[in-house]
Amino acid sequence: MLLHSGSLVATIVAAAVLPPNGLDYLLIFFGWVAGGLGISVGYHRMLAHRSFDASPLTELVLLSLGAMTGQGAPRYWAHLHRTHHRYSDKIGDPHSPVNGYAGSPLRGFLRAHFFWILEGYLPRRIEVPSDIDRKGSVRFVNRHHLLLLIAGLLIPTTVSAAASATVLGAAHGLFWGGFARIVLVNHIIWGVNSVCHSTGRMVYQTGDFSRNVWWFALLSFGEGWHNNHHIAAASASFTHRWWQIDMGYLAILVMRAFGVASSVRLIRPNALLSMRVT
Ligand SMILES: [Zn+2]
Ligand SMILES: [Zn+2]
Repeated sequence: MLLHSGSLVATIVAAAVLPPNGLDYLLIFFGWVAGGLGISVGYHRMLAHRSFDASPLTELVLLSLGAMTGQGAPRYWAHLHRTHHRYSDKIGDPHSPVNGYAGSPLRGFLRAHFFWILEGYLPRRIEVPSDIDRKGSVRFVNRHHLLLLIAGLLIPTTVSAAASATVLGAAHGLFWGGFARIVLVNHIIWGVNSVCHSTGRMVYQTGDFSRNVWWFALLSFGEGWHNNHHIAAASASFTHRWWQIDMGYLAILVMRAFGVASSVRLIRPNALLSMRVT
């Protein structure tokens, strides 16, 4: 929480005294892409749901990109996320907007977004299933996730310093490519729990409040097709229609074309017809 509140303050300060330049926007864009690959593809689809296999180096890169977002160690993230699916919007779901807050939608939304982090559901108290960190890449990123987070701040700082050859340029890289990027990426990740369990379209009877939110899918590398994901969590693809853009799945297809991803699991929408609401 210190990281996230500190990053928010740093972003507000930067907006006041360091207006973003063209390179800052580029750094934020590439940071957003890296965060999407790290969390949606690496932490979520590869590790938590094991919906595809990746080469050891690809695993390491994806999980390292995930750690750079400030979402914590992958083993805790994956286990928390599995817990969310197991108890979705019922007692035991770590970040449901309705669980215990039925009388106050705004309070429930804010709890699902990030206040759940303050509720004492501390990852280190959780027994993590052994399949999650059976691989060396996972154990490495678990051990070094704080160093990777710092690397995620230093990389844009170095790029901006090298491009401008000034200390002010380095500050731009740190504040916009580092802190502001952390704020943006984390609000998008948390939004899957808040926005996509509060609003949007329910296509399948999942027994929870998961929804498809098309505009959020564009921001979140396809995570916004959240009702599709809840009905078929083991599938690497969240898209059930040709027009549903899922950039995370496209990234997996590209990785498979390059021979660094395999065993891509898919659950075809035709197999889910009986579960449709509409
Ligand atoms: Zn969900
Ligand atoms: Zn999931």
